[in-house]
Amino acid sequence: MGKLNVTVLRYLTKEDFRVLTAIEMGMKNHELVPASLAASIANLRSGGVHKLLRDLCKNRLLSYERGKRYDGYRLTNMGYDYLALKTLCSKGAVSSFGNQIGVGKESNIYIVGNDEGEPLCLKLHRLGRICFRNIKEKRDYHGKRHQASWLYLSRISAMKEFAYMKALKDRGIPVPNPIEHNRHCVVMSLVDGHPLSKIYELSGTEVETLYDELMNLIVQMGNLGVIHGDFNEFNIMVSSEGKPIVIDFPQMVSTNHVNAQMFFERDVNCIRSFFKRRFDYESELYPTFDSLKREDVMDVEISASGFTKQMAVDLLVGMGIDEGQSDGDCSENESDDENAIETLKELVEESLCEQFKSDRELSPSDVGITAAQKLLKDFS
Ligand code: ADP
Ligand code: MG
Repeated sequence: MGKLNVTVLRYLTKEDFRVLTAIEMGMKNHELVPASLAASIANLRSGGVHKLLRDLCKNRLLSYERGKRYDGYRLTNMGYDYLALKTLCSKGAVSSFGNQIGVGKESNIYIVGNDEGEPLCLKLHRLGRICFRNIKEKRDYHGKRHQASWLYLSRISAMKEFAYMKALKDRGIPVPNPIEHNRHCVVMSLVDGHPLSKIYELSGTEVETLYDELMNLIVQMGNLGVIHGDFNEFNIMVSSEGKPIVIDFPQMVSTNHVNAQMFFERDVNCIRSFFKRRFDYESELYPTFDSLKREDVMDVEISASGFTKQMAVDLLVGMGIDEGQSDGDCSENESDDENAIETLKELVEESLCEQFKSDRELSPSDVGITAAQKLLKDFS
């Protein structure tokens, strides 16, 4: 697992980032991006681009690969990390880098600092890369666009996590403060505490109180129309005051999901069996799916965040939670366009095409890769 060497970030020039961004954009339609396409998107002379590409490969931000029909470049995990970090830095969300504090199943977790030196938590989502579950389904579902799918899945996973964290926070569920997100990265407050998995010593009343609080959280979320879906001792932090804080949201599902009852009962049973195992505590009292009063549905707020229904479906399939239609027709197009706009806006902000900002607004239909090339040509 490559360690994030943030000092490299300092040595990268505007041109390096321009080429890196060009490869990211090219990957929306190409598994491997040929140097000539990179040069044209980045609007750099092809002589200059070759040296930049070579150096980016040396720094392992890009890799050069031989394809069936042509050779080209693709972003590495590290390359994608740097693009996101640079954006998070320029937004002022992150300004220093600390240690890695966790390697989850589908993420890397770091401590970072903001401008005020306040420690925060950075989660890098990693999906669709190595996958042992449902490999066949995934391959069918994402069809030929396998390369682009890790970018897409990791990005929508972060997007979903941020949206749910915010919606839950707004409704009083104890979760970290969502601070910022970009691409596959989420910045949130650092929880002062330990995962429940590391807690061994609690008094009898503390055990009972914590059990009740956790079951209440499952019910409160259920009443909001959502199920955590992975409510176990690794995704529950316990603060220094002994209060639970819930983390890890990419797999959350609606109480309207066809398997909602199964997910709900699985979450409840996770807590019951953990308390039995760890604290030898059993209670007659535990919530049932039928007893939920589903009052408020978070759907509206979630879709307002830009996390679309299609992304929700794609993500659950990509995570192996749902089965996709195996028609091989991947629905990345719409969201790809939105991502292209996002990328273009970042380029605009970096004043690579300053004029563009005032002249017109982008709409998804404007932005295919050719449109992106043209816009960059016109305005840079
Ligand atoms: P994954 O989806 O890979 O399981 P998690 O969000 O569960 O990732 O995070 C993995 C681990 O990182 C957690 O078990 C916890 O120890 C740590 N962690 C995650 N978020 C925070 C946070 N906001 N504050 C402190 N530690 C965290
Ligand atoms: Mg987790």
